[in-house]
Amino acid sequence: MVLLQPRCYLCDMPIDNPQPFLCLLCQQELPYLPYSYCPRCGLPQGQNQQLQCSECNEQAPPWQQLITCMSYTLECQYLIKQYKFSQQPQLHLLFSQLLSRSIANKVIQADYHLPDALIAIPLHKKRLAKRGYNQAQLVAKDLAAQLQIPLIAENKFIRTKNTKAQAQQTAVERRANMHNVFQVIEPITAKHIAVIDDVVTTGETIKAACQTLFTAGVERIDIWCIARTLAD
Ligand SMILES: [Zn+2]
Ligand SMILES: [Zn+2]
Repeated sequence: MVLLQPRCYLCDMPIDNPQPFLCLLCQQELPYLPYSYCPRCGLPQGQNQQLQCSECNEQAPPWQQLITCMSYTLECQYLIKQYKFSQQPQLHLLFSQLLSRSIANKVIQADYHLPDALIAIPLHKKRLAKRGYNQAQLVAKDLAAQLQIPLIAENKFIRTKNTKAQAQQTAVERRANMHNVFQVIEPITAKHIAVIDDVVTTGETIKAACQTLFTAGVERIDIWCIARTLAD
């Protein structure tokens, strides 16, 4: 058997790294978010990084903190599309490594308290059967193991509607589309949880998830996502 040297997913150069996905240069050039983004919504802001932005002051989202590692630029989109749509589940290792670094920074720089449990945004069973894996669940599993935080079982929190892609919809349509999308099968005992998602764009999906989880007894929710879209 000949083992092929892995190639960088972004520039196709052969690589010889501890992680077999990106060359060092491409890894350095990923669109990491600076620390000066709003800790609540994850959007850039000019003020003190410990404070939430003026939009969040006016109308705060239902979650407390949003931790992400990258902005959803073209390179990041390419990697996440490979991960979700091109049968490259092994990329979970790259994303969980990047996300755990952002979480560690938050713990050190902002005295962030880790949650009692993690939960992944579920896929509808039809989509899960087609893809074969839930991209958020794979990252959540890695983080649960690394941080020694319990992961709430995949069958406890489910998606009851197979929603279509939201890109073409208006804000009102998106909200209607997300109504009653999620369901909690058994009560959740953890009070502070982190919800893991791949990309946060409008936030409608995670808002709907938060609503369902609060109803199930959760008191505080943080969002951990691979990437944040900075502008619509
Ligand atoms: Zn490269
Ligand atoms: Zn904000």
